[in-house]
Amino acid sequence: MNNTNPVKAFHLRFGSHELLEPFKSFIQNVLVPKGINFILLECNTSFQFESHPELSSGSLTKKDAKELSTFCKQNGIRLIPLFQCLGHQGWGGGRNSILKHYPEFDETPHVPEDAEWPKFFAPSWCPNHPDVNALAFELIDELIAAFECDGFHVGMDEVLALADDQCPRCKGQDRADLFAKAVNDMHSHIVGERGLEMFMWGDRLIDSEDSGYNNMWEADTLGTYKAIDKIPTDITIMDWHYEMHQSFPSVKLFLEKGFRVIPACWFKTDAALAFLEESIQDAKELGAADRMLGMIVTSWHGWNKTVFDQFEKNDLNGELQELSVTLNKVTSYLK
Ligand SMILES: [Zn+2]
Repeated sequence: MNNTNPVKAFHLRFGSHELLEPFKSFIQNVLVPKGINFILLECNTSFQFESHPELSSGSLTKKDAKELSTFCKQNGIRLIPLFQCLGHQGWGGGRNSILKHYPEFDETPHVPEDAEWPKFFAPSWCPNHPDVNALAFELIDELIAAFECDGFHVGMDEVLALADDQCPRCKGQDRADLFAKAVNDMHSHIVGERGLEMFMWGDRLIDSEDSGYNNMWEADTLGTYKAIDKIPTDITIMDWHYEMHQSFPSVKLFLEKGFRVIPACWFKTDAALAFLEESIQDAKELGAADRMLGMIVTSWHGWNKTVFDQFEKNDLNGELQELSVTLNKVTSYLK
């Protein structure tokens, strides 16, 4: 691991103008004292896009983004926005604002709105639609300008809807090629054109069976994983595993391929620490400690004023209490 300045990161979904002050207070009074130096802010379409106001589904403004960016810099925190590309364009058959306004980008327009898992997980945009990247780049550029950031996270976890049999552009194509194309298109823009560091989730690049994770969420069961050899290795991979496993071999896999890696945990403390310890050990054995950057603690609950206050007062229970413990232990371990 990079021992001089390990990444101690926290992830949350956030896109609310009304919660800006409680969020800043949470940063100052909870995250900064724990030594957090990286915030992954998943804003997706909850930003007030000026280029495409029809796509905005939240209230976070350009001014808010600038204020947050300045505030984080003052507190020694690298702020990286996350905007879900390709997959997660809604939940079940429900489409997000992008696919609602641009139904021609929908990879699976035949899936009904009320479809639910396990029938259907989440919609994707079609990586072969000739106009989809132009729109994505406009939105991404607006976020980059607003947050004045030096890196960008494109999401791309759990992309199951891909190479659909009914998509006239993708039918019959190789899933790994399609996934790699989407990654490479984003890389050309974010790294090539804008000169930023690109981050993405790693799950689609891991073979479920070979890794021993043996599930379709934190690894791939459909052949997408072969994209790992078709994308640039200057992408920083956030490798998420939230449950305890006998072994977490994927950090080693990414390091061997030449990527920089940040393992990602959720609230389960034992799993987080086992994952972190194994990642550090693997990196050391590979002589790749400088590319095992630290750890990110993710949160997947809703944030509101009450929850921010509860964290500040350390008045938590259940999963949130465990998340707080995990945050303490991970940041202490990385000191
Ligand atoms: Zn398609």
